Amino acid sequence: MLDCAIIGGGPAGLTAGLYTTRGGLENVTMYEKGMPGGQITQSSEIENYPGVTGEISGMDLMIPWPEQCQKFGLKHAMVEVTRVTKEGDVFKIHTNDGKVDEARSVIIGTGSRPRRAGFAGEDEFFGRGVSTCATCDGFFYKNKEVAVVGGGDTALEEALYLAKICAKVYLIHRRDTFRSAPNTVERVKRTANIELVLNSVPDEVYGDKMGVNGLKVKNKDGAIRDIVVPGVFTFVGNDVNNQTLIQEDGSFLCDMNSAGEVIVDISMKTSVPGLFATGDMRIAAPKQVVSAAGDGAVAALQAISYVDELLNH
Ligand code: FAD
Ligand code: NAP
Repeated sequence: MLDCAIIGGGPAGLTAGLYTTRGGLENVTMYEKGMPGGQITQSSEIENYPGVTGEISGMDLMIPWPEQCQKFGLKHAMVEVTRVTKEGDVFKIHTNDGKVDEARSVIIGTGSRPRRAGFAGEDEFFGRGVSTCATCDGFFYKNKEVAVVGGGDTALEEALYLAKICAKVYLIHRRDTFRSAPNTVERVKRTANIELVLNSVPDEVYGDKMGVNGLKVKNKDGAIRDIVVPGVFTFVGNDVNNQTLIQEDGSFLCDMNSAGEVIVDISMKTSVPGLFATGDMRIAAPKQVVSAAGDGAVAALQAISYVDELLNH
C-alpha cells in the first residue's frame, strides 16, 4: 500500500513528490505517462521562475527536478493512470497496463492540454502544418512565413520565439486588445517581422497532401484575407485533464466546477478526504510553474498530516 500516489509529473506533481518524500512519507509513487516535466517543457523560454535569470528553456528548467525527488526516494511509474477510485479509506489507482495499486492518499496534478480553435481544416492538417508547439515544430519553418493564432501569453510568447527563426509571423487575434501580459504585448509590437492581424479569426486552413499552403482569415467586417503560409500555430487556451477522476457511472470522484476544474480549498483539499488537487487542473489556478509547484508543496504537507492521522489516531 502506497502512503501517497501522485498522478502527473509536471511542476505540481514533482514538487509534491519532493515534499512528501523529504517530509517523511515512506512509500510514494509518481505516475507520469511521459517524461516528467509537464507542459512547460514545450516552452522555448521561461523568464518568470524566481531566481532563474538569463535565457532558459522550459526543458532545461525542468531537467533537474526528477533527480532531486529521486534523491529522497520518490518512485516513478511511467504509465498512464486511467481512473482513481476510493473504497473506504483506500484509493485505487487504475493504470492502462491493467494493474490496480492501492494508496492511502492521492495528489493529482494532471494539468491541461492545448485546445483546438475549431476552424475548417484544423484537424485534417494537424501535424502536417498545423501545430500547437513552436519549440517542437518551429525549426521546420526556418526563414519561411508562419501564422500564429491567439492573443494570450502563450500565443504572443511563441510568436516572439518564431519571429527569431522565421522570415515573418502573422499574429491573428479575434480582438484588438490582448489577454497577454502588457510587456509581452509591447515586445510583440516592437518586433519588425510580426504583423498583427486583428479582429480576425481563422476561417479555413488549406493545402494538399504535402501539407498546409495557406490560411484564410475572416475580419470582423466580413472581409476574407488569404495568408499564404506553410505553417499555422494555434495557441487558443487549454482544457483541464480531469479524465482520471471520472467514475464508472460517469460522475466525478470529487466536486468539480462547470469548467471541469477540481474544487479545492486553500490547502488543496478536495471534497474527498485524502484527495488533493494541484496546479492547472484546480479552480482559480494562475496557470504558472511557480504556483503549480507551490500547490504541490501545500498538498504534500496536507497529505503527510492526513496519512499520519489515518495511521496513528
Ligand atoms: P502540467 O505541466 O500540465 O503537467 C501535468 C503532467 O501530468 C504532464 O506531464 C502529463 O503528461 C501528466 N499526465 C496527465 N494525465 C496523466 C495520466 N492520466 N496519467 C499519468 N500522467 C498524466 N508558466 C510560467 O510560469 N511561465 C511561463 O513562461 C510559461 N510558459 C508556458 C508556455 C507554454 C507553451 C505553455 C503550454 C505553458 C506555459 N506556462 C508557463 C504554463 C505552465 O507550463 C503550467 O502552468 C504548468 O506546467 C502547470 O503545471 P502542472 O503540474 O499543473 O501541469
Ligand atoms: P489563454 O490565456 O486562455 O488565451 C487564449 C487566447 O486564444 C485568447 O486570446 C483567446 O481570445 C484566443 N482564443 C480562444 N479560443 C479561440 C478560438 N476558437 N479562435 C480564435 N482565438 C481563440 O491561453 P494561453 O495563452 O495558453 O494561457 C493559458 C494560461 O497559461 C494563462 O493563464 C496564461 O497567463 C498562462 N501562461 C503564462 C505565461 C507566462 O506567465 N509567461 C506563458 C504562457 C501561458 P480572447 O482573448 O478574445 O478570449
